[in-house]
Amino acid sequence: MNMEAKCPDCANILTNTHDDSTEIWKCSNCGWEVVTTYTPQIQQDTKDYEIFLMKNLSPEANQLRTLARISGLNFIETKRMLALDDSLLFKGNAVDILPIKTQLEQEDIEFRIMPNYNYEN
Ligand SMILES: [Zn+2]
Repeated sequence: MNMEAKCPDCANILTNTHDDSTEIWKCSNCGWEVVTTYTPQIQQDTKDYEIFLMKNLSPEANQLRTLARISGLNFIETKRMLALDDSLLFKGNAVDILPIKTQLEQEDIEFRIMPNYNYEN
């Protein structure tokens, strides 16, 4: 979070820490603090993202297997999809996209995500 919040008591800049479920705002000057529920930004992101494969991708057998699994297509349909100008591999929200993005990166498969996707594992 890049928001700068000020202490309601002394107007000092609050520090912000969180774990998976709790967020703590704390004033280092006077000790004021508040605990709130933390929702990771990725879970608040309700946009639909689309993963496209790079044009003229010629995947190796193991990569093709991965692409077929992600897209839910069989090998022949997957190859047909790869021949298209815009080979849409997958569409989903930010949370759905992350594991697929990670897998594609691990297997060295070139892709782009529309719109811009800013989450990392
Ligand atoms: Zn304070």
